[in-house]
Amino acid sequence: MTTDHDLIRRTRAAVWHPCTQMKTLEATPPLAIARGEGAWLIDPGGRRYLDAISSWWVNLFGHCNPRINAAIVDQLGRIEHVMLAGATHAPVVELSERLAALTGLGHAFYGSDGASATEIALKMSAHYWRNAGQPEKNAFVSLQNGYHGETVGALSVTDIPLFKDTYAPLLRHSVQVPTPDARRAEPGESAEAWALRCAEALEAHLAEHAATTAAFIVEPLVQGAAGMAMYHPAYLTRARELCDQYRVHLIADEIAVGFGRTGTMFAFEQASLPSPPGRGAGGEGAGGKSAAVGQDAQRFPDIPPEAIEFARKLRHEQTDAESLMWYLLRDRRLGGHKFRRQHPMPPYTLDFYCHEAGLVIELDGGQHAEPARDARRDAWLGQQGLRVVRFWNNQVLQETEAVLSEVWTALHAGAYPHPQPLSQRERGEGPRQAAIRPDFICLSKGLTGGYLPLSAVLTTDAVYAAFYGDATARGFLHSHSYTGNPLACRAALAVLDIFESDRVIDANRVKAQAFTDLLADVAAHPRVRHFRHRGMIWAFDVAQTRPGFAARFHRAALDHGVFIRPVGQTVYVMPPYVTAIEDMHLLAEALRACLDHPDI
Ligand SMILES: *Cc1c(COP(=O)(O)O)cnc(C)c1O
Repeated sequence: MTTDHDLIRRTRAAVWHPCTQMKTLEATPPLAIARGEGAWLIDPGGRRYLDAISSWWVNLFGHCNPRINAAIVDQLGRIEHVMLAGATHAPVVELSERLAALTGLGHAFYGSDGASATEIALKMSAHYWRNAGQPEKNAFVSLQNGYHGETVGALSVTDIPLFKDTYAPLLRHSVQVPTPDARRAEPGESAEAWALRCAEALEAHLAEHAATTAAFIVEPLVQGAAGMAMYHPAYLTRARELCDQYRVHLIADEIAVGFGRTGTMFAFEQASLPSPPGRGAGGEGAGGKSAAVGQDAQRFPDIPPEAIEFARKLRHEQTDAESLMWYLLRDRRLGGHKFRRQHPMPPYTLDFYCHEAGLVIELDGGQHAEPARDARRDAWLGQQGLRVVRFWNNQVLQETEAVLSEVWTALHAGAYPHPQPLSQRERGEGPRQAAIRPDFICLSKGLTGGYLPLSAVLTTDAVYAAFYGDATARGFLHSHSYTGNPLACRAALAVLDIFESDRVIDANRVKAQAFTDLLADVAAHPRVRHFRHRGMIWAFDVAQTRPGFAARFHRAALDHGVFIRPVGQTVYVMPPYVTAIEDMHLLAEALRACLDHPDI
């Protein structure tokens, strides 16, 4: 039996701990953990600590979650790992399809951790421009105080001096533009006005350097490692516009904020599309918008106007094929992965499937097609009695009228229920509207619920198409041995199942409100500055601190049964989503007690 003390002695001798001056372990030994249970960490002696920072922001549904455990155990009995070059497997295919459906970015490339996702996105962006005949577009822009990982490439776009300065001679130069961190607004200036003022600096940079710039990489809404610096989503909306205008990729590093942390599945969803030109934001757009919807409605008398309205909201006010397809199929979401569950199928890709019409609908047909493979697949689908129809995703509705009417008729003549009425959100009412779309999204941390290292970079058809061709070197020749590991992918699929079945985003909204209420005393504490909150992240800065504050606060919180690690003078909590309200009570009490402590 290993004792607590023994383990600490041996870890000091043999384990070089991350992000740690090892000498500090003399005063602050690491916490030895033997077990986990939900939001709790348990030491070998049975003492329990609330994991208030989700084990470095990775955990979503608690430690030893029975559903995630079961998925991994099931996968262990099938195949633990197979290389992803020259082979594929159901977990990676299904995960890619589901991430595509969630983000609208249909091509997933896998890495092993967050930093490798950053490396992939940077390399892919620069390689895209090279393939597009503009190899000089290879520089990157990022935000001041941004954090994108610590491998040499990722560190070069990171702006945390403590992590970066030592290695400066190893790094490629990159440019940082001012952070829209709302704490920096002028007195009386709104977070939004400040964010838009910061975007002017981005514009000035791009105006001068777009010809040599590949991408702007940004942590949407919350700069985590900077100390949970939060900013207004208007910055992202404006950044998207500027990146479009100057032909620069927008990379959303959602490694920390993805999977519900900021209150939406992905943080970028909170940045709504700007009003289309010619329609003032305040003008309601009644004339222009209804007229456009009306025109589409005349062309498609079979399809109800609300479907057309929905489709237009999804896609930059344009009723295109994909958005209408989502409307038609949204009550059952017959994407490729559901089809595959019903039909054992070779690993072909498949965009939409309408059982009632016996149709497979392929978007972007031809753009990145590999004719021989497509022919094999179409032949296979034909043998199953299915017809394949292709069209370009952004073809306007008009050109696909016949197919859409056929799907619509088939859906409503059959035994399936009429589509549910549109929710307020789908109608674009309330706070949410159609969101911007990044060119790349980096995911990791919460992707596997904090179980296994896995990262994914999602990108658009346009980026994917630029790599597609006969020349090997035109392809993205990047690899990690554990790319798309099946155990990690199964953990991720179990995580997505939990999001769906437990309606996690909605449940978190209620939980977050309750916790914010519990923190009222903390927010009003005389030492607390800039109390801030977004989704399932809470943070505040502490005034009147002496050097060593973070370590002292950490130790004091442990005495209250809470595991927490402040960043400088910023204390933040980012609890697992399964944290019970009673436990949040305890957490709020612990924070208050630590703040009240005269020696911290
Ligand atoms: C954690 C993090 C990374 C790096 O991920 P690792 O898995 O630690 O390499 C990159 N970007 C952001 C925003 C992060 O929070």
